[in-house]
Amino acid sequence: MNKDLKDKTLEELERIVVGLGQKKYLAGYLFKFIHAQNGRDLSTLSTLSKAFRAQLAEQGYFISQIKIVDCLSDPDGSAKYLFELADGERIESVLLPDEDRLTLCVSTQVGCPMGCAFCATGNIQFRRNLTAGEIIDQVYAAEASSLKCEVSSEPDPGFPLQTSNLKLDSSGALPRITNLVYMGMGEPLLNYDAVLRSIRILNHTSGRNIGIRHITVSTSGVAPAIRQLAKEEIRPRLAISLSAPADGLRDRLMPINHKYPLAELLNAVRAYQAETSQRVTFEYVMIEAVNDTVNHARLLVKLLRGLMYNVNLIEHNPFTGCEFTGSSRERIQKFADVLKEAGVETTIRFRMGRGIKAACGQLQAGYEPAKREIRNPNTEIQNKPE
Ligand code: SF4
Repeated sequence: MNKDLKDKTLEELERIVVGLGQKKYLAGYLFKFIHAQNGRDLSTLSTLSKAFRAQLAEQGYFISQIKIVDCLSDPDGSAKYLFELADGERIESVLLPDEDRLTLCVSTQVGCPMGCAFCATGNIQFRRNLTAGEIIDQVYAAEASSLKCEVSSEPDPGFPLQTSNLKLDSSGALPRITNLVYMGMGEPLLNYDAVLRSIRILNHTSGRNIGIRHITVSTSGVAPAIRQLAKEEIRPRLAISLSAPADGLRDRLMPINHKYPLAELLNAVRAYQAETSQRVTFEYVMIEAVNDTVNHARLLVKLLRGLMYNVNLIEHNPFTGCEFTGSSRERIQKFADVLKEAGVETTIRFRMGRGIKAACGQLQAGYEPAKREIRNPNTEIQNKPE
């Protein structure tokens, strides 16, 4: 049994406390200490008796803590944290300031087994799932750090800077994180239980209390898990990485499409919306001359007809070994215009954190790419998918 107290819901803490012969309400003190005060050392929890603290320690209970080993900040205001886990594995999280929001993009796995061709994380070996405690602690560790990261790159020329208006307090401490996106390293819905557990804990009003509508889970399209998510009593926002309007192209870009092709994926989205009435966001990584033509945009509109959705167009970001090129601003704009003319709410996501390899699809946590052939649909798809 995992004895990390950070990993436990309030109800589970109550069972542990009662099981140790103590009063149930003491679990509330523990939960608050860990999740509202970012308490890390049980011996400092003075609202519990010394004897009870000793009892918890004797039974092997502890509060886990991930370690920040590096923090880089980009002139655009974003920052990337490199964390080391208790077993020495490494993950990354990215902080994205945007007007009055401060979003943390968290990882859910070390590496990723999905192998999306446009993503650096998919290019390293999958190592393991994170525990809920390790997911949660990315938030607490980032907040506990001051943002005195090393500024490591020059502004990206040619693109407008999204300059942060992040206000640090006089000690340089970070304001509280307002939004979470489960969009870092890993496929969240392949680590379903830990992801849902972490959301329940982070959303709890006695703890960190991050609003559920401020939490987004992004999936590459694990259709059965989308159906499962629809049945949960807790409902984060759902984003789906689509990046192609037809199966042939999506097979090449995202291998999961072989298992859950578009028809099956979109049926799962329909079932999700029938149950929840919630809009979903489709993410579309823009790759020059691969998936970014006007015809692709028209196909996309046709494919998604009848769904409640919006589209985020994301510029593809380069990484070592990837042969794709990100679409030009003109092509992205043209693509967006087709969607907008069709009445689709469309947002172009400018790259943030590219100078520190923290942009979408660039997280590798220092792991070497696995030895595998990197597909290049540029050479395979000469014609448009009409
Ligand atoms: S895009 Fe997401 S699901 Fe695909 S390889 Fe990267 S981290 Fe994994």
